Amino acid sequence: MNKGYVYFVGAGPGRADLITVRGADALKKADCIIYDKLANPALLKFAPPDAEIIHVPKRIGNGSFTQQEINRLLVDKASEGKTVVRLKGGDPCIFGRLSEELAVLLEAGIDFEIVPGLTAGIAGPAYAGILLTHRDFSSQVTFVTGREAEGKQQSNIDWHLLARFSGTIVFYMGVGNLSLIADMLIENGMSPDTPSAVIADATFPTQKVTKAALSDISDKCRQQGIEPPAIIVIGNAVGGEKLNWFMQKPLFGKNIVITRDIAGNADFAAMVIDRGGNPVEFPAIKIKPLTHKNEFVRTLAKITEYHWLIFTSANGVSIFFDAIKSLNKDARVFGSAKIAAIGERTADRLSEFGIKADFVPAVFTSKELGLQLIAHTNLQGKKVLLLRSDLASDELVGILQKAKAEVKNVALYTITQEKGESNRLAEEISAGRIDWFTFASPSSANSFFKQVPVDLINSAKVKIASIGPVTSERLQTLDVKVDVTAEDHTLEGLLDAIENTYKSI
Ligand code: SAH
Repeated sequence: MNKGYVYFVGAGPGRADLITVRGADALKKADCIIYDKLANPALLKFAPPDAEIIHVPKRIGNGSFTQQEINRLLVDKASEGKTVVRLKGGDPCIFGRLSEELAVLLEAGIDFEIVPGLTAGIAGPAYAGILLTHRDFSSQVTFVTGREAEGKQQSNIDWHLLARFSGTIVFYMGVGNLSLIADMLIENGMSPDTPSAVIADATFPTQKVTKAALSDISDKCRQQGIEPPAIIVIGNAVGGEKLNWFMQKPLFGKNIVITRDIAGNADFAAMVIDRGGNPVEFPAIKIKPLTHKNEFVRTLAKITEYHWLIFTSANGVSIFFDAIKSLNKDARVFGSAKIAAIGERTADRLSEFGIKADFVPAVFTSKELGLQLIAHTNLQGKKVLLLRSDLASDELVGILQKAKAEVKNVALYTITQEKGESNRLAEEISAGRIDWFTFASPSSANSFFKQVPVDLINSAKVKIASIGPVTSERLQTLDVKVDVTAEDHTLEGLLDAIENTYKSI
């Protein structure tokens, strides 16, 4: 039997894209992933579909694991010949009890590799704009565990030395003992005025940074309800707010509900995070291909008869190419037909399959696509094939027919309702933890309000953003007040519209 292998992978400080490339590659080949409470579960997206996933939170409570149980699990899984990834928060070598896990592997003769990660003590300050070293006032940095403070008698921490340390001190696991830590440092001679900061939930959209003099930091954190995980930074490296770049992002701290399908939500969530927002995913719709139906198969057989093919969504493009791939065909099925795409995203998706759209309108609605296409080219007597959802409106067909085109409509997919966690969402709304609802299509709006009462939203202090006029109209017919409609009918445009509401205040 194959001898197993263990990768100790640093998951990074929090947000999923701060893992290393080598760490992600190790996850991709794992048979078994054993991950900690602090490793972001979003990283499991790298896991092969059949990988065994074991969550081993160490905190007390249901399903918690002791260190010995984790050690045994590592040896057992590797001994079965598996490639095991032991995914640990931050860097595996920093305050992660790695030595105990390595000891059992050494004893069992199992090979391993350590994939370093970005530790919270470095990434947290970076995300708070705190530079750990500075040529003028911090030439050294030290990492200290804040848990030791409890058992003062046998402490390995030399508080006397630490209080005199002239660089930056970074404490891990110290929030619970913050007042004790500050007292120990001050008692041992550190100035009570020493600048201090606590960075909680570092790198996440929920990040909080609290700054105060050493003598006040504990009270201030208590008042602000700061909870672990958090990093404490003490020293002159802690400066003002000017460099706090992450929390100054335009949508930082805004909780934004996104209501597309699961895959679409994942893309949209990444855009929200890029602008500092906190995406709250509520997949309201499901996209089901209809390309197995006779109508599509028959049309595909004659697709070269068409002069123009029109795609009105990126989803439609993917579904079309999935379908032709399963029939062992490729982009050559298009022949010499010209191709129109409703917007940049649709055009981008086409280009992923090697197709450059011949026409993309300047405004991304079906109506504009029709009007601009007939202005762009003479469609009289031309055969035009619309490849879109079975729910798409007839407006585009009407515009093209008026220009004397011979129009055929073939459904690539349909949209059905996805059931979201509406009770949980209602709780979040009532608790004031939602700022925005976004709708990127009329179907999302329909499906969402079949599950969540309109009154709940209209009565709460939340705002509604829509991607374009068609979606806004649908929301209005559902009695939903629309606060902003995107001028540019793209997901980026939708987020721009939300951002602009804060600029105008
Ligand atoms: N190996 C980890 C540290 C594990 S000890 C690493 O290298 O980062 C756990 C401590 O790490 C927490 O108590 C907290 O001090 C810190 N920590 C981990 N993730 C954090 C985060 N996202 N924000 C702030 N502190 C974090």
